[in-house]
Amino acid sequence: MRQVAILGSTGSIGVNTLEVIRAHPNRFNVAALTAGKQVDRLAEQCVEFKPAIAVVTDAADAARLSALLLEQKILTQVLYGPQALVTAVTESGCDTVMAAIVGAAGLVPTLAAAHSGKRVLLANKEALVMSGNLFMQAMKIGGGELIPIDSEHNAIYQCLPKDFTNTPHPSQGVEELWLTASGGPFRDSSLEQLRDVTPNQACAHPNWVMGRKISVDSATMMNKGLEVIEAFWLFGLPLEKIRVLIHPQSVVHSMVRYRDGSVIAQLGQPDMRTPIAYGLAWPERIAAGVAPLNLTQLATLSFTEPDLARFPCLSLAFAAAKTGGTAPAILNAANEIAVAAFLEERIPFLQIPAIVEKTLSAISVTHASSLELILEVDAQARAIARDLIDEMRQ
Ligand code: NAD
Ligand code: MG
Repeated sequence: MRQVAILGSTGSIGVNTLEVIRAHPNRFNVAALTAGKQVDRLAEQCVEFKPAIAVVTDAADAARLSALLLEQKILTQVLYGPQALVTAVTESGCDTVMAAIVGAAGLVPTLAAAHSGKRVLLANKEALVMSGNLFMQAMKIGGGELIPIDSEHNAIYQCLPKDFTNTPHPSQGVEELWLTASGGPFRDSSLEQLRDVTPNQACAHPNWVMGRKISVDSATMMNKGLEVIEAFWLFGLPLEKIRVLIHPQSVVHSMVRYRDGSVIAQLGQPDMRTPIAYGLAWPERIAAGVAPLNLTQLATLSFTEPDLARFPCLSLAFAAAKTGGTAPAILNAANEIAVAAFLEERIPFLQIPAIVEKTLSAISVTHASSLELILEVDAQARAIARDLIDEMRQ
């Protein structure tokens, strides 16, 4: 039995993970569940899966969760706060951690999972974008397995040679990684039209149902930018060998081009249960509850170059990746603040890249040498992005 802790169990990835687990009760046991604020949903999950530990953000929510579980005679230990997320990883008896908290809040517990040798199923791309080398070192020291859940990276993982590591050997002949992008809901919108799009329009993704932050990231294409940085760290290829292709159908989840002219792609429905099931059961393959792909029902599969003029977030991310050091952490923090402000209707859509760019130019980049330093830079970038937003609104 695999013992699974889910960080962010009430979110889109968390709920899909529990769906896969529910279908395989003899393979997986839930050791820990954590949520931010959704106490009722977490309580239902605890009643069904009876984890050893459940975590929420604050004391009041923890008291409410404890009361709900007591009523149902569930013996789950209820904890709260950021350090409790680490406890859920290290003290719940789990061997596998689904890292599915959104944003920087997932960094510390995901790093703890890496350090303690767990199988890390990485959905929380922001954690890797922020900590890059530090995270990959923690995986190495911990000795666990890192399996990407982000659909593109999971696809590439499936298309790479079996013995591929993030220090690729030339004899393996890997030339390029091609990350596909749907282009999001505004793929065909003009700059003029992008001026007044609303949060709900931005979150109405044509192919995937996801949390609101990643949905906005998909609409600005910052998501693909973060994914370029994610691929850089996961697979260890130079940035010039990581390319982005717009593929509106979201059927080819990504590809690897080899030296001999072969291109290997992974195809499937746009359904996160496929990569989740892959990561949970690896190296076996289990049913994910996903309908088989019917290629004859698809009219076309098309691929085009992204338009960097309409989607500047992609260029900003490439530039931050190239700069390296703390630049990706600054990019990520500013983006989180700008996206939150857009979702609260405090800034228009097109100000998101402006805030990110200005924050990046306001902070000097240093070597991302320690977790403390990364967290400090993250806080600094957030403060600057908030000030920029306040100025903009005056
Ligand atoms: P979501 O918003 O639906 O869920 C986020 C989860 O994190 C929730 O359980 C929430 O309660 C928890 N959370 C949020 N803030 C928290 C905090 N401060 N402290 C503790 N817990 C907190 O997000 P999602 O769409 O499931 O995405 C999760 C991660 O997976 C993101 O990093 C996203 O980029 C990545 N991802 C998601 C998808 C997808 O299809 N949804 C695909 C690829 C990658
Ligand atoms: Mg993705």
